[in-house]
Amino acid sequence: MNCDKQINSTFETFFRDVPMQKDVQITIVGKVFKPNKRKVLALNIALDEYLRLVKWYLQFNSTSKKFLHENGYELARKYFDLNTALIQTARDKAIEILKSFNELKKRGTVKSKKPILKRISIRFDKRCYSFSKTTNVLTPYWLTLSLNRRERISLPIIFGERQKQRIEDAFNGVWSFIIVEMVKRNGEWYAHFILTKTVEFTDKPETVIAIDRGEVNLAVAVAISKKNPEKPMKGQFWRGSEIKRIRGLYHHIRRNLQRKGRIGKVKELRGKERRKVNQMLHIIANQIVAYAKQFSKPIIVMENLNGIRRNFKKSKKLNRRFHSLPFRKLQAYIEYKANLEGIEVRYLTKEETKNTSKTCHRCGYVARVKGRLFKCPKCGMEYNRDLNACINIAYALTRRMGWGSCESPEPADVTEGVKPQANAGSPIRKGGVVHLRLYLRCLRAA
Ligand SMILES: [Zn+2]
Repeated sequence: MNCDKQINSTFETFFRDVPMQKDVQITIVGKVFKPNKRKVLALNIALDEYLRLVKWYLQFNSTSKKFLHENGYELARKYFDLNTALIQTARDKAIEILKSFNELKKRGTVKSKKPILKRISIRFDKRCYSFSKTTNVLTPYWLTLSLNRRERISLPIIFGERQKQRIEDAFNGVWSFIIVEMVKRNGEWYAHFILTKTVEFTDKPETVIAIDRGEVNLAVAVAISKKNPEKPMKGQFWRGSEIKRIRGLYHHIRRNLQRKGRIGKVKELRGKERRKVNQMLHIIANQIVAYAKQFSKPIIVMENLNGIRRNFKKSKKLNRRFHSLPFRKLQAYIEYKANLEGIEVRYLTKEETKNTSKTCHRCGYVARVKGRLFKCPKCGMEYNRDLNACINIAYALTRRMGWGSCESPEPADVTEGVKPQANAGSPIRKGGVVHLRLYLRCLRAA
């Protein structure tokens, strides 16, 4: 292998397309605290009007801002009693709704011809809201909204402790305010503040953290230090068994309900399942980011999962169990949370992804893998299969960055170098009983 040439070309690609900074966003939710009747009424009227307007824009069946502006704006001003800034955010919302509807339609997940809109939140941009801190005793945070051409209302907002910290950071300039979404839920009003900041990534990472999905585990992580790239550190597994169990259970319940023709119930359960799984994925993503943060100047690398479903076509059961393991969603959460902490996330190219699971990380030999252990027929290394693949992913990035040499790494000592440790149990333990009860209830209901 021509060592220098390879390093140089990959070295360049690494630095050419690296964004050194990135804009990240967070949403902080505050509650409108005991608004008086007049204000609630004004909000409710504005919400009805806004929903009507978004539906009206949807009738144009266009995702072009220009088209909607030219053909709709003047009429909208005439027919809808809303602030002009709100007329524009309603238009943008209609475009977003139509776009995601078209996307779903392409994938065949919706049957209706047009998007059906039941609820909406009102989006206020900088032109139609202001948020300030006062000396008011009830709450210092007051949100002023321009609803229409005549009416402005001021609302007291309260936050939970963590949210308050972020809002204070925003007042101190760490975050900037962009949008406020006014959301009505169960008769109460909430203000969703969307904040943004630019994070700077280090241009000299010192630790590469590879995160991979496993055949056995939901996720695997390993760290490679620039000082000693031959020695992979702290392999860790997240089994995801709780997620597997929930998915299996819900699958079973849904099948039973389907047979009995309870389609509505099936849909409801799907939402429930998704929320439970997402909650667990968030916890795991937090743990993974915490894992990365223990190392100096970390950078995360993951496989690009586009097109992964084609990779395994085994039994139907296996498909459901593994594949549907929502690793892609986990990746998105990891990227988001890591970026918030100023940690950059990189993905491997298709070429680099090739054979990561079949290659011996020590000698580079490509072998057939069977069972849970990777056994290299060339150098005799025996290694945890998921961890071996994960190390290969890390090496793909260290190669790109020109770390270490092209010579085969030192024999990695499994017992010393990498201590595979399961994470501290699944995040939610008591689920079992609850789910069993749910299961029984659903069957009875059917
Ligand atoms: Zn080998």
